[in-house]
Amino acid sequence: MAYNINKEIEYKPFIISDINVVELLISLRYKYDENMFLENGSMFYITGAKALNQELVATYVSLDETIKKCNFSDKQLKLIKLVEQGYTHREIEQILKIDNSNVTKSLKTIYKTIVDINLREWRKSTYTNTLGIKTKQCSKCKENLPATNEFFSFDKTNNRFKASCKKCR
Ligand SMILES: [Zn+2]
Repeated sequence: MAYNINKEIEYKPFIISDINVVELLISLRYKYDENMFLENGSMFYITGAKALNQELVATYVSLDETIKKCNFSDKQLKLIKLVEQGYTHREIEQILKIDNSNVTKSLKTIYKTIVDINLREWRKSTYTNTLGIKTKQCSKCKENLPATNEFFSFDKTNNRFKASCKKCR
């Protein structure tokens, strides 16, 4: 049975909005992963008796979607994978041959990015879908974003938002 995530979408942003929660979710993933997720993590099936707390499953799917939007480097993705597989910082240090403080620092950056992107995505969809704020397409990244000061700088000379979004500028 394919699980419908749509109805879960409203509260998930708050779960992933805390760095410590993100860290915990990623580091405990190996405990839940067996038989639950396909390799790419984007689709999954719940198998009868092993049906896991559906909220948790939906949270992991949401986390995967957020990670995809973070544009992490291969090195960062590798780090995430190792934490997901249950390796400790010390083991990761040995596997990747980088020192411990770098592992900790890199992971902190990763978790912070996930939290930031998650909140950005949540605001994007709330402004657009709930508040009905109209969107504007960025001329560079082509993303449709709410036409607000948060996403676009205002061009006072022409009395309108600039063509490309803040992230692209
Ligand atoms: Zn852009």
